[in-house]
Amino acid sequence: MSDGESIGKSISDRPLFPDSDFPIWGTVVAVQANFYRVKLESNRETQFLPQFLLCTRRTRLKKIGQKVMVGDRVLVVEPDWQDARGAIGEVSPRSTELQRPPVANGTHILLVFALGEPTLDPWQLSRFLVKAESTDLQLCLCFNKSDLITALERQQWQQRLVNWGYEANYISVKQHQGIEELLLSRLRGKITVVAGPSGVGKSSLIDALVPSVNLRVGKVSGKLQRGRHTTRHVELFELPGGGLLADSPGFNQPDLDCLPSNLAWYFPEARVRLQQGNCQFSDCLHRDEPGCNVRGDWERYEYYLDFLDKAIAYQAARQQQPDQESSLKLKVKGAGKNQYEPKLQTKKYRRTSRKVRQQNLQDIYQTQLEEEIEDQL
Ligand code: GDP
Ligand code: ZN
Repeated sequence: MSDGESIGKSISDRPLFPDSDFPIWGTVVAVQANFYRVKLESNRETQFLPQFLLCTRRTRLKKIGQKVMVGDRVLVVEPDWQDARGAIGEVSPRSTELQRPPVANGTHILLVFALGEPTLDPWQLSRFLVKAESTDLQLCLCFNKSDLITALERQQWQQRLVNWGYEANYISVKQHQGIEELLLSRLRGKITVVAGPSGVGKSSLIDALVPSVNLRVGKVSGKLQRGRHTTRHVELFELPGGGLLADSPGFNQPDLDCLPSNLAWYFPEARVRLQQGNCQFSDCLHRDEPGCNVRGDWERYEYYLDFLDKAIAYQAARQQQPDQESSLKLKVKGAGKNQYEPKLQTKKYRRTSRKVRQQNLQDIYQTQLEEEIEDQL
């Protein structure tokens, strides 16, 4: 298409905004306070319309307690095409639902760890793996900073991970190695939730995968960036060629809050043993019970025992303190020490006037809206 054509097609040739008698479906890509940014599904009817609508939630949904999460597929009603606004009237049933970070319909968790800087800690890695295994989402493991270790060290890690039951992608964002392959073979067309400890290169990876998003790597710029840091909200970014990627700061410190009896299922090594044959006792926790099929000389068995203690302590404290549940959060610390810490107060957003609301919106979305308008012109 020549420049002349693309300019000629913009705005003046667009049909007047149509009557909205066709259903408008989209995906929620960001949530801020009571506003939802919805990326519309493109089809013949919407091809000349704004790609994104900033929406509120219909009162009816509030009344029935229907929450709206990032990743939700929603029906937009009462569209105001001029101002790119609308309201969410319906939420499709979710295929998966993650609480921390809050993401609906995620396909898998992309767990990112570094092979160096910070040193790869197999205990911490296992803790993240167990957490990811305990969700309904699939798991995709990725090791960054390949450039910091030798080929031999990498092979050793690779073999060790295979023994644990994991195939991983080994990449270097710095040297731009393995990124394209990761995108094509694992991420395209899916909703991916990126997780992992800080410093491993998650932001750098998202920057590399989604060129249009200039995330911070040790830098903070723009109002939306600041919003992301302070409010820990999740946002979905579009991958080139299809698919969405969630930047997920809330997944940084996984709790061992699973049921002790489920824990073994979150270790592939134990899972294989459980599938091969039952333990003598159906409530076996695979410690020192007679006739246990899971206990054995697999490398991470000691992690299993350690995590089991923590999961048991978590459950016990939870049962003893039902009233504290709402205001306190149990921190399971090292060596079996448990401690309640006050939960951060959830920020309550008062009903705001239209004027204030518009200011908020402007503050949060100005940058992106401007970019979109530029794109559309
Ligand atoms: P995040 O906290 O997981 O989001 O990590 P960042 O993306 O902020 O990266 C942390 C640091 O690791 C930054 O200084 C990056 O430049 C650096 N880094 C990211 N990827 C690589 C890599 O592949 N190799 C090396 N050597 N450093 C990297
Ligand atoms: Zn057992």
